[in-house]
Amino acid sequence: MIKYFFSFDSSKHIAEVQIIFPSNTKNSLEINLPAWRPGRYQLQNFAKNILNFEAFDGSNNPLEWRKTSRNVWKVENESQREVTVKYKYYSTELNAGGSFVDQYLNYINPVNACMFLPELMDSPIQLQISKTESDKIASGLTVNEDKDKFIIDIKDTYELFDNPFIVSPYLERLEFRVQNVDFSFWIHGRIDIDTKQLIADLTKIADYQITLFGEFPEKNYHFMLIVPEHTYYHGVEHANSTMMVLGENGVLPNNYYNDLLGLASHELFHAWNIAKIRPVELTPYDFTKENYFETCFVAEGFTTYYGDKVLFESGAIDQKQYIKELETTYRRHFEEANETSQSILETSFDLWVDGYEKGTPGKKASVYSKGAVVAQILDLIIKKNTNQEKSLDNVMRILWDKFGKTGIGYSYQDVKAICEDVNGDSLEEYFNICIESGGSIFELLASLLTEKGVSLQFTASRSVQLSIQTPNH
Ligand SMILES: [Zn+2]
Repeated sequence: MIKYFFSFDSSKHIAEVQIIFPSNTKNSLEINLPAWRPGRYQLQNFAKNILNFEAFDGSNNPLEWRKTSRNVWKVENESQREVTVKYKYYSTELNAGGSFVDQYLNYINPVNACMFLPELMDSPIQLQISKTESDKIASGLTVNEDKDKFIIDIKDTYELFDNPFIVSPYLERLEFRVQNVDFSFWIHGRIDIDTKQLIADLTKIADYQITLFGEFPEKNYHFMLIVPEHTYYHGVEHANSTMMVLGENGVLPNNYYNDLLGLASHELFHAWNIAKIRPVELTPYDFTKENYFETCFVAEGFTTYYGDKVLFESGAIDQKQYIKELETTYRRHFEEANETSQSILETSFDLWVDGYEKGTPGKKASVYSKGAVVAQILDLIIKKNTNQEKSLDNVMRILWDKFGKTGIGYSYQDVKAICEDVNGDSLEEYFNICIESGGSIFELLASLLTEKGVSLQFTASRSVQLSIQTPNH
């Protein structure tokens, strides 16, 4: 078993970390810090936050160590006995994938702050987190507690890295149940929204998604919301939780309500699509280096499309609001990246190069917004070709059965084959135009929408406009 201990020095934004690795058969250990975090497919620089690294043997004698790369500390251990490492992690990143420590909260994403041994990824873990008497904890894991610490038994390092936690006296918890799944909504910070309405709408959203897939992958699920002092909109998905950082000037105002629902719907959809239904290249995650993959239009594009669609279809928002959401997606894609030199497959691969910045003009479209548009086009084509009997829902269910439930990763070819199977005919032209090249997909979308009584136009100022001729969904 590997043991992790966390304590905090809030005035200095410091998390103090101690790890005990069990005895081993190596004369030296290459102790890594993750090079990236799931949900953000680019290299991170967590190592810059490490200070005061030390290593000791089982008798508390210091061990020699040196760094061998940006994320690797090589510790000499000729006795091959257990090794303790201690360091501090400077925690000032208040976003949904970061870590932040101050007098109000100790918020940690272990994938930032926890060193690990790649050869022990599957070993069980015990995590102990120091607490004060009034501290509560928000986490997707089962937590035991005694007087001065929370104690969490964890299956392996993958599970550790997938579970952020918030420790604070100022945590509020709302609970609800949908189709035998226990949901919690944790709040840290001030919100000016009606929580009864929130629970009612989240119930609709969860119910719709669970029905779509036929089951929920987990026994429980935790929405965790931190309202920051700065203006922010960010969410990160995990197997049975999501971390959301949303709000402005220390409050989540009522006019952010639909943003909160949209974010929650998107992240919940990831509980199937990426937490379980995962590309073969990311199965399992390799935290030591880049994990290149081509299919982010499925992981993020399909999820973006469904995140908004579920809001409407479940009744959480009305048609007018849904049209607004679609227009936003269309604007992001057509006004900024209608034609690009890269296909969305290339852009997905290059997430590790420039995926989260504007990038070179004319090069790429977003895996999120173009991904959502190509998902909608695919949905419309399948519905049309099957007389409305089949849709992208059928594709998602097959992906869940074949890959999500089994833990086998999917390839681009697998996705193509499933889509064509559901469609009952070749989709070569669709994949050519929408996925494998960078040309405009405007005409294709506009013609499919026209058949549904919806007009999509570029105005003279190159702005995208959507209007419904006959409400027909
Ligand atoms: Zn996402």
